[in-house]
Amino acid sequence: MADIYVRGGWIITMDSRRRVIRDGAVAVEDGVIRAVGKREELDPQYKNYSDILIDARKSVVIPGLVNTHVHLAQGLLRACADYKRLIPWLKDRVWPLQGNYKPEEALVSAKLVVAEMLKSGVTTFLETGLVGRYGVDNIIEFLHESGIRAAVARHVMDLKGYALEENILHEGLVEPGDTSFNDTLRLYQKYHGWDSRIWIWFGPRTPGAVSLELYKKISEKARELKTGITMHLAEVREDVEYTTKLFGKKPVEFAHWVGLTGPNVVLVHVVWATSEEIDLLAKTKTSVSHNPSSNMKLASGGAKVAEMLRKGVNVTLGTDGGPSNNDYDLLREMKIAALLQPLITGDPEAVRAEQVLEMATINGARALMVDNMVGSIEVGKKADIVVVDFNQPHLKPTNNPVSHLVYSAMGSDVRHVIIDGKLVVYDRRILTFDEEEVLSKADEAAHNLYQRAGICLEPDLKWPVF
Ligand SMILES: [Zn+2]
Repeated sequence: MADIYVRGGWIITMDSRRRVIRDGAVAVEDGVIRAVGKREELDPQYKNYSDILIDARKSVVIPGLVNTHVHLAQGLLRACADYKRLIPWLKDRVWPLQGNYKPEEALVSAKLVVAEMLKSGVTTFLETGLVGRYGVDNIIEFLHESGIRAAVARHVMDLKGYALEENILHEGLVEPGDTSFNDTLRLYQKYHGWDSRIWIWFGPRTPGAVSLELYKKISEKARELKTGITMHLAEVREDVEYTTKLFGKKPVEFAHWVGLTGPNVVLVHVVWATSEEIDLLAKTKTSVSHNPSSNMKLASGGAKVAEMLRKGVNVTLGTDGGPSNNDYDLLREMKIAALLQPLITGDPEAVRAEQVLEMATINGARALMVDNMVGSIEVGKKADIVVVDFNQPHLKPTNNPVSHLVYSAMGSDVRHVIIDGKLVVYDRRILTFDEEEVLSKADEAAHNLYQRAGICLEPDLKWPVF
């Protein structure tokens, strides 16, 4: 007996042996994976005795993807900040828009992003930093309702700068240190561990917006509560200038000094890191979220992922947000990650497809400290399973499913998504909330936001619009 029986196709397990099973099957019961193996061996026990039978014979079955860097509040900002470097991108576009949100618009943005992620196979993600004006509780309650798993970092800050530029944060996003810190604790008490699907993390803003004392306080509290911390670090050269000029330390050394390294920390981007800093990441078991599309689009630089992986750093994959990527499709991000390393190293084998799929699954689960629960298709783990339709021209011949997943597939190839043993997407339809309603509200919510911010009212096109 099983609640769901996924039958046929390639099963890419990502288990400790990284078994790839041709013509395999997976049985799910009470939210948990009960059996994984060859179809012919599992069929007698499950084929005629399961509530839901999923035919995956022309598909590839993978563990749910883990997106380790998401901005839920940037869903409505797509195409509103193209052709800019990070600091003007933040100052002139992203912050004024985010600093003008009303909670109902931020909720539409979050729903849009979650709909896109679910339909492209993401079952667990790490939100970088919510602020009070977005209506954090509403967003977390929606996340729970949607069926997805999420580590939700709330922004913590007590200064208004970015790197050496002081007082540049938009007023609408400024929160006092006590308010932002204590609200994180409140959220932790209220939601952390909810149904093993919601976790509350600390999301300190980038160096320049947080005092040394507050960084240390966050580090100590996170350790005490056994929760995580995520922060953008060394994304652009200005980050290196800030920590070097003010503290005589490279960015990763600075993070280590204020307590922001360790197995409960996900540092995002880490583009401008030296070999010594990469050694320090490996030594402290600090995870890195690599976001190649964002780094390429904002001309920030290319992270040394091949070197990080060689040295044993737990590198994971993130999409970043609507104005930097401009999508939340982790399957497409795998391709960009796989292509960037040969370009910057001159070595066609700088990263292999297998490593990129690890970044998007088991490594992400480890970074979120939930790899005992998700990140692979193994007996006893929670059933987070994605069925990718391989019966398509761009995925034939099906001779190497891992190569195809990384280099040829995209989010729209995802057909079914199971999270916690429940069908959340079936035949590309979201079952847990009304996608049509979200789509119908998105344009109006964005228009109202743009009006208030006075930004993005006309498309940024070189061509006449009639
Ligand atoms: Zn980001």
